[in-house]
Amino acid sequence: MSKDKKDIRSLTKEQLRDFFKSIGQEPFRGNQVYEWLWSKGSHTFEDMTNISKNTRELLEENFVINHIEVDSLQKSNDGTIKNAVKLHDGLIVESVLIPTNKRTTACVSSQVGCSLDCKFCATAKLKRMRNLNPDEIYDQVVAIDRESRLYHGHPLSNIVFMGMGEPLMNYKNVLASIEKITSEEGLGMSPKRITLSTSGVPKMIKKLADDDVKFHLAVSLHSAIQEKREQIMPFAKNFTLVDLKESLEYWYEKTNRRITYEYIVWKGLNDTKEDIEALVRFCSYVPCKVNIIEYNPIDDGEFQQAAGEAVDAYLEALERNRVPATVRRSRGKDIDAACGQLANKQ
Ligand code: SAH
Repeated sequence: MSKDKKDIRSLTKEQLRDFFKSIGQEPFRGNQVYEWLWSKGSHTFEDMTNISKNTRELLEENFVINHIEVDSLQKSNDGTIKNAVKLHDGLIVESVLIPTNKRTTACVSSQVGCSLDCKFCATAKLKRMRNLNPDEIYDQVVAIDRESRLYHGHPLSNIVFMGMGEPLMNYKNVLASIEKITSEEGLGMSPKRITLSTSGVPKMIKKLADDDVKFHLAVSLHSAIQEKREQIMPFAKNFTLVDLKESLEYWYEKTNRRITYEYIVWKGLNDTKEDIEALVRFCSYVPCKVNIIEYNPIDDGEFQQAAGEAVDAYLEALERNRVPATVRRSRGKDIDAACGQLANKQ
């Protein structure tokens, strides 16, 4: 890849039209190229057969088409597929296809490594290298959509931003990727099928509400007691539960969409009555549901999944207080593709 050529996919449609104008050609050629790049997913200028050969050569001289490559693919015995995705600069992220009875979900990464420091997450142990570009996020979705058609006979139905990275620390690019995923020129997916999961960055949650986004929001809560949350998610010192609560109220006021709290119950850490009461109280602030997720050990033995009874006690208290709750069984554990296990181990 040449250093001085620009990645053509960093250009908006308008900028592509301007480029054609600047070389004395019809601006609609820009629309055609845009379509090749985004709806047709072309990786070479040669593909663009409705553009003259001379023009294609001119594009080649001025631009590169950066794209991801699925470097390796691991299949779990439960049907989950993990992709190691190589970026144009050689860095690697992971994305996962999770099939269930009726749907297939893509779990995509938003950063190489992560900005945050959750002690129970394998990705947090990696250094944050850089943010992904909108096209690098979009390409992960396209790759998984292809795999879904190939291995499961139907297109991708849902997307969760629960792979590597904190999506709200790469706000602009994540939103640009969702714009592409949902636009007719991209994949035309409904935003209702997309969930962004955040560790809880209050300022950015408010910004999402102001930007009037149409997708769903999930928050990795894990404890509704400030000191405990700081213990397991040290960044929470700066992003406190008080601020989080306020931002979620703001979100709900503006969007009217209920929030999902992700919650892991650990042995000896958040498995007491006091923890349960704190969660129930937190759940009274805005309409929500709770997704209790199974802990996937990340080798160092510091954290252990709580016993079934502790999870049952949570479920019972939530039910009594009319908070919808589900327990999410992990998928793809045998290939380190489950939540919190993405650490480029392959
Ligand atoms: N940074 C975002 C999205 C990535 S993590 C966030 O925190 O929400 C996706 C989900 O996996 C989060 O709910 C996170 O708390 C959870 N997770 C992290 N490590 C885990 C582990 N070892 N076992 C189970 N879930 C884990």
